[in-house]
Amino acid sequence: MNLLHSTQTVIKEALEKLGYQEAMYELLKEPLRVLTVRIPVRMDNGEVKVFTGYRSQHNDAVGPAKGGIRFHPEVTEDEVKALSIWMSLKAGIVDLPYGGGKGGIICDPREMSFRELERLSRGYVRAISQIVGPTKDIPAPDVFTNSQIMAWMMDEYSRIREFDSPGFITGKPIALGGSHGRETATAKGVTICIREAAKRRGIQLEGARVVVQGFGNAGSYLSKFMHDAGAKVVGISDAYGALYDPNGLDIDYLLDRRDSFGTVTKLFNNTISNKELLELECDILVPAAIENQITAENAHNIKAQIVVEAANGPTTLEATKILTERGILLVPDVLASSGGVTVSYFEWVQNNQGYYWSEEEVIDKLEKVLVKAFENVYSLAQTRRIDMRLAAYMVGVRKMAEASRFRGWV
Ligand code: GLU
Repeated sequence: MNLLHSTQTVIKEALEKLGYQEAMYELLKEPLRVLTVRIPVRMDNGEVKVFTGYRSQHNDAVGPAKGGIRFHPEVTEDEVKALSIWMSLKAGIVDLPYGGGKGGIICDPREMSFRELERLSRGYVRAISQIVGPTKDIPAPDVFTNSQIMAWMMDEYSRIREFDSPGFITGKPIALGGSHGRETATAKGVTICIREAAKRRGIQLEGARVVVQGFGNAGSYLSKFMHDAGAKVVGISDAYGALYDPNGLDIDYLLDRRDSFGTVTKLFNNTISNKELLELECDILVPAAIENQITAENAHNIKAQIVVEAANGPTTLEATKILTERGILLVPDVLASSGGVTVSYFEWVQNNQGYYWSEEEVIDKLEKVLVKAFENVYSLAQTRRIDMRLAAYMVGVRKMAEASRFRGWV
């Protein structure tokens, strides 16, 4: 089952449990709008390469669409669609005035120069400019995109519109209206979810063994936060392999040596595979890399008591069922990774009011939002005796369904 089909299955179940008619599912099972664009880019060798990109807007009943842009060779239209649906759910779970959106370009930024990336980023904004904007659809970073790419995109959009538009995109550098705390927000959100989940399971974070798959924006900062909280990060990985030390890895050293794509294991000889990493002895497992990592094949071998999804879609539906049956607490992606979009919302609010907050203010607000979101989802799961994924979908879909009904769409 692909990502889109599996997310549709859970949306259907969530809407049924909430008592909605079939028509609501028909509206929400697919994005309202998906634009496919072709972007010609002059490469450094003088040749023109044409890239394919997408922007998907799942729903805008609650407010403008919101969500990141992914640069990755494996981007597909269905993946971008599913990711935009998840953004709608995240917005619902943390109660932001947004619907979900997502973008992607099929490319490999690891093999492109700085200037090629700039031309591609600007070309993408020109191609999608008609359907995006501060009150329509607000992009942000995602896999292999960063604050520099957001800066180029903001500049291109401002040139097209002929006025400064910081509210067009979030995840910008601080100097261009970015928010304090945005860079580490996803990891902070995951940290809060881990802490809340550990409390519910009676696990002390101090000394707990943590395995983190992926060393990108979320995985690397999360390893640092876990390490600082006194947990023992015994395993980490990147796309090329994984590192394991039962006594705890030297996270500061690894952070220092990672490149901007989160690659670090190439510097070591004694690596293990990503597959082995997921099955390590540990208390808390955090998949923070890509989709479909925990499947029916390996779910029986997971040793962790708590799995917190920092990546989008790392666990299949079959695996969710197996983990739940085995009594493992699974905190789903749409809740655990919602810290990024929460601080993106704070960034957009600051841009709109032209008044900027301190890092403490941002973190304090993020903490309150996520603790409440976690409690909402956890208690619904407990009272309805369902897994946290289905509970999160129920919380996430509710406001969007209500807003669609009030607008008279369904
Ligand atoms: N790409 C991030 C996500 O998947 C952040 C989106 C945003 O900040 O709008 O949640």
